[in-house]
Amino acid sequence: MSKTLKITLALFLSLSVGFASGFLYRDILSRTNLTAEEGYAPNEEPSSAEVSSSSEDNQIPLPPPYQTFQVSLAMEHIRQLSSVIGKRTAGTEGERRAAGYIKNVLLTAGYSQVMEVPFPLENGLTSQNIYVKAEGSNPQWTIIIGAHYDSLGWKGSPGANDNASGVGVMLELARVMRINPHLPSLIFVAFGSEEILQGYGKGHDHYGSLFMASHLRELGGKVIGMISIDMVGVGSSLCANATLAASDALTNLFISHARGLGVPIQFRQDPGWSDHESFENRGVPSLWLTYRIDPYYHTPNDSIDKISSNLIAQIGQLLQCFLESLDQAKCQTLDSATRIR
Ligand SMILES: [Zn+2]
Repeated sequence: MSKTLKITLALFLSLSVGFASGFLYRDILSRTNLTAEEGYAPNEEPSSAEVSSSSEDNQIPLPPPYQTFQVSLAMEHIRQLSSVIGKRTAGTEGERRAAGYIKNVLLTAGYSQVMEVPFPLENGLTSQNIYVKAEGSNPQWTIIIGAHYDSLGWKGSPGANDNASGVGVMLELARVMRINPHLPSLIFVAFGSEEILQGYGKGHDHYGSLFMASHLRELGGKVIGMISIDMVGVGSSLCANATLAASDALTNLFISHARGLGVPIQFRQDPGWSDHESFENRGVPSLWLTYRIDPYYHTPNDSIDKISSNLIAQIGQLLQCFLESLDQAKCQTLDSATRIR
């Protein structure tokens, strides 16, 4: 067994126990002593002395770098987006400031290429998607992990739960997974303009994910799955939602993974209330992860003080474990279930 695998397994097991016994992540965090500020710095690459063993002594070489999801960093992103920047209506200065923040976080996490893709809105304004790719050991396959960063600002909502929470988790996963081993390539994307435009009705939304889903073949690798992280900081029950316009293969994999770790989760069929809809309609197995129910949804009271760091930690660690568990067999299952149209 490789050292990396051993470490992965050790973390996996400690998390399994942690979930069952009330979140061991606090222990992991207290051992790392990371502050929010320090966490923005890209992780230093190990020097050759650290990773290679000397033939002249019996020193045990240090393990390769391995990162765990830091809830303090995800919470800081949520605070920056919802409290410092605030309302992020699609196509406005607020949304552009959020895009700038997101780009900066991804650059400092060590990504050399951060893509910013503008797209037009029906009201004449412009929004943008921001994304990075963490190349996998088998880049023939790609999984998209997305969260929308606009908020319903024209209704006064600073969007802490909807959806700075999802963006905070996505950004922290992007930092961790750039370093940790994983089989499929992972695209981490912040979608612009998910919410309904002011003055428009139902169906005039999800612009960022629709734009990316209509350019799937340009992303590199075959896209075999998409996970939307949307509203994960408030509520009591974790749900995996899908419209079932595409295969439920990814939903089934995720649910059994979560239950295997002792995390209660239920499936719900939804009419397409988040960015997964855009990808399911293109034939990609997709799901939307969310906690229900948020009483402050789409109101000015959707603020940082309502966000539970326990929920953020749970979903972040669960997603990290899941992404690292995607092996050849699971990716093959997803590949067979994908019918891109
Ligand atoms: Zn949302």
